[in-house]
Amino acid sequence: MPTTNDQQPRTRIGYGWDSHEFKRGIPLKIGGLTLPHNKGLGGHSDGDVLLHALTDALLGAVAAPDIGTLFSPSDPRWKGADSSVFLTEALERVRAAGYTIANVDSTLILAAPRIGPHATAIRERVAKFLEIPVDSVGLKAKTPEGMGTENAAIAHVIVLLEKRGRGLTESKRRVRKA
Ligand code: MG
Repeated sequence: MPTTNDQQPRTRIGYGWDSHEFKRGIPLKIGGLTLPHNKGLGGHSDGDVLLHALTDALLGAVAAPDIGTLFSPSDPRWKGADSSVFLTEALERVRAAGYTIANVDSTLILAAPRIGPHATAIRERVAKFLEIPVDSVGLKAKTPEGMGTENAAIAHVIVLLEKRGRGLTESKRRVRKA
């Protein structure tokens, strides 16, 4: 494994997965945006399936406890919570470990609504949360063909971290300057 001088890995990978059930009468939050739809995603917090999977991917990349351990669903503090709170904690742990985010890729699996018309806005919102360029945030949406999960939204997210100051981006910058 490529390492920096201090023997920490130069890059780390993280993966997160989440699912939430659709329920009538609540807003649909995905990637920090409220999307127009007749149902939202249930859950103890705001049900933002994409931000939950992203949070777990970041936590996993630095081998931190997962979202359910840090923010217990039985804790009344997180009832109806804005999921950006969870993401902020994960980002702080990534930074404290000395890493920055190289890129993120994600897949949403849901029958409705269509994500295509909102994909750019979601990618922009996630990029802003993470303070990375929008072209470092991938988002695909699939329908759950043959899976029988029409009343759920599922998110898979993968992240690549690089060691701050000594990672791939930094070495590329040095090469360009030289
Ligand atoms: Mg969740």
